[in-house]
Amino acid sequence: MCEEHQEPLKVFCKEDRAFLCLVCDKSRQHRAHTVLPLEEAAREYKNEIYVQLQDLKTEKQTAQNDKVTLQNGTAKYLEEIKIERQYHCVLREGSRKLTPLSQAGKPSC
Ligand SMILES: [Zn+2]
Ligand SMILES: [Zn+2]
Repeated sequence: MCEEHQEPLKVFCKEDRAFLCLVCDKSRQHRAHTVLPLEEAAREYKNEIYVQLQDLKTEKQTAQNDKVTLQNGTAKYLEEIKIERQYHCVLREGSRKLTPLSQAGKPSC
């Protein structure tokens, strides 16, 4: 689908090495360019397009990996906070034992 015209992509512009819709094809920008029907372009540029697709896939994969790393980072961060809270709780617990029972409040953890 052409993002600009919301038309199905029908041709391949050799100069721009980009898929175009028929509106793009008729536009001034590509008028002087050599455009091929998709089937022909597919034959001619099979390997090239395949490589481009592979690149896209790799990029997507990298992005996903980043996301996973981020999530792992967050999980680790949350785990650290949890541990810290428990640590403070233990500290409070310890100090409460030292204060007289009458002065000790309700356990807050
Ligand atoms: Zn278009
Ligand atoms: Zn063009």
